[in-house]
Amino acid sequence: MLSLIFAFMLSGLAQEKQYPEDRSYRSDERGFFQYAARSAHNTSTYALTFDDGPHLTHTPKLLDILKKYQVKATFFIITERLSPATRPIVQRMIEEGHIVANHGEIHHNSNQISESEFKRNLEIAQLKLHALHEAAGVDFQKLYYRFPYAAYGANSAYHHMNALQSLSQALYGDNCLQFAFWDVDSNDWVPDMSPEDIFQSLKAHELGGRAFTFESYRNASGKLLYRKKAYTVTTPPRGGVILQHDIHEKTLKGTELFLEFAKNNGVKIVELSELEEYRVLRQCSLKSSLF
Ligand SMILES: [Zn+2]
Repeated sequence: MLSLIFAFMLSGLAQEKQYPEDRSYRSDERGFFQYAARSAHNTSTYALTFDDGPHLTHTPKLLDILKKYQVKATFFIITERLSPATRPIVQRMIEEGHIVANHGEIHHNSNQISESEFKRNLEIAQLKLHALHEAAGVDFQKLYYRFPYAAYGANSAYHHMNALQSLSQALYGDNCLQFAFWDVDSNDWVPDMSPEDIFQSLKAHELGGRAFTFESYRNASGKLLYRKKAYTVTTPPRGGVILQHDIHEKTLKGTELFLEFAKNNGVKIVELSELEEYRVLRQCSLKSSLF
């Protein structure tokens, strides 16, 4: 009986996976489809994530909204945006139990920079995140990285997953930095999206129906611009990781409308690390030699 239980436990463990996996990635391994948070699909369970902050005025208002609805989010911050004015906002995120994660020191397109530049950009950000958590007296164990512009895997000189692993080995002596993707994109960055459009897009991923993506066009002077484009979600995922940006004012109201909808419709909002695909499976600590 015990051996059966043990075998069951082992098979359970074998299924637990994190990305990057503990292996070398080939240059032709691209795409994001394999990184969907499938465990959340069809469960009406979502994890909120916000990229590109902290923003001096919008982010604190978003934190107020999250507090009002008693939900936790993950903030993929750009650490060059840390200043004496914005640092307290990030401290507040940490104190209020949100995850603060790595979106780079600079918002680089990873496909356009060298491996050493890519790793340096991540390392600076990761060390700043450690310093912020240390200042808040919080053990920093939820270590996630999200690629700006979802740009990865298209640099012929190296594979970003291997570079992520190699930096993690240097920092922690283990494969600790988890790759974070998303399942639902509200396209809140598109200039003519309104808070109601954002909410409508999020809701459509739960109920199906009208949502918005974007299209590019050129104005009279030939400048490339973007505008919203309606489409219909016919098979909604009904769960997953939501991508938004806390640097847009309209995202605040759009999020609030969605949280009100969630509260009244049995939709659960969980923290990223509660999703099977984003569990923290390893205890990691910075090598002391870095300090
Ligand atoms: Zn970004």
